[in-house]
Amino acid sequence: ARQFFVGGNFKMNGTKDSVTKIIDNLNSAELPTSVEVVIAPPAPYLALAVAENKQPTIAVSSQNVFDKASGAYTGEISPAQVLDLGAKWTLTGHSERRTIIKESDEFIADKTKFALESGLSVILCIGETLEERKAGITLDVCARQLDAVSKIVSDWSNIVVAYEPVWAIGTGLAATPQDAQDTHKGIRDHLVKTIGAEQAAAVRILYGGSVNGKNAPEFKDKADVDGFLVGGASLKPEFVDIIKSRL
Ligand code: 13P
Repeated sequence: ARQFFVGGNFKMNGTKDSVTKIIDNLNSAELPTSVEVVIAPPAPYLALAVAENKQPTIAVSSQNVFDKASGAYTGEISPAQVLDLGAKWTLTGHSERRTIIKESDEFIADKTKFALESGLSVILCIGETLEERKAGITLDVCARQLDAVSKIVSDWSNIVVAYEPVWAIGTGLAATPQDAQDTHKGIRDHLVKTIGAEQAAAVRILYGGSVNGKNAPEFKDKADVDGFLVGGASLKPEFVDIIKSRL
């Protein structure tokens, strides 16, 4: 069985004070040992988050990395630096980076490969826009985004896939549990073809997009929804309810 996984993506939010408060709140919660939790504060607070976190089931993640170890790449962050701060994960391919920063499938794949080679685990984010959904090409888009990675990465044991439909992010309009299940199943079926049945069966596929403490339990019986990637609600006490939503 795949271990339930909950990620918290703080995005470009917070201060030393507010990040400390969020982590203090997590520290004081009784978290199930069966749930893997990863929090992704903004890069300036990675060291703070690592230092403050007392929960053995919580690891810290970067929201982004570059695909080089070091050098003249002003403003970028290397996987080695993320690891040096004590973080173990990075996100790659978040839709906000795909659309606002204009990162290509290939660049995201390169970063994913380099992060893995450097020793980070990766939450690889994929998902379609509303336009693409309306055009009926949701699975084609997800397949294209995944294929860029599977073309150059054969070992997926340290990758978690986050399916985040762009139309559901920050809108309050989460995908229905059945919608998410259908797409997750389609993603897993596609992965069977590209990375093999064994790896496809093992990879966690998270749902992301307007997940909150209230709707999280509704995804409970969906076989291919292995957890969540949470944005806004990860900044709030209800993040704990999401972590506990499978109990
Ligand atoms: P929201 O939970 O705020 O919709 O954001 C989802 C997301 O983008 C997480 O990476």
